[in-house]
Amino acid sequence: MKTIHVSVVTPDGPVYDSEVEMVSAKAQSGELGILHGHIPMVAPLQIGAVRLKKGSSSDEVVAVSGGFLEVRPDKVTILAQAAETSDMIDVSRAEEAKNRAETRLQSKQDDVDFKRAELALKRALNRIEVTKQKM
Ligand code: ATP
Repeated sequence: MKTIHVSVVTPDGPVYDSEVEMVSAKAQSGELGILHGHIPMVAPLQIGAVRLKKGSSSDEVVAVSGGFLEVRPDKVTILAQAAETSDMIDVSRAEEAKNRAETRLQSKQDDVDFKRAELALKRALNRIEVTKQKM
């Protein structure tokens, strides 16, 4: 089976770079599964897990905080403001971020930016979920 090269890049530098069999990602339009030879495209991503299938070895998972996915026939590039492999994730930091966001969302104060708190909650839940999916 032909492989496809995946790079996950953030403002802090590259987070992941490898040849894989399949890339699964949550685009805003829905779940995408990308194999070698896929038609070129660009798609905005949701905050979610990107799954990398590597043949016989176990899958890898990257927590991606939105951004864009660019597909060329032999390469996938994911550009995101933040992305972490499961071993990079500090679970207690994500739990704290989750609690802070939940407290903000529950408060009735007018000065709370609910959209921002909602996104922070999604990022925290995604990070927690990715650490649980390490296979
Ligand atoms: P926090 O409130 O804990 O900073 P956040 O969702 O606001 O969380 P981001 O703005 O998405 O954080 O990310 C800022 C930087 O910190 C990025 O480089 C991101 O990879 C890193 N980061 C955020 N949360 C974690 C975590 N739980 N473990 C490891 N790195 C993290």
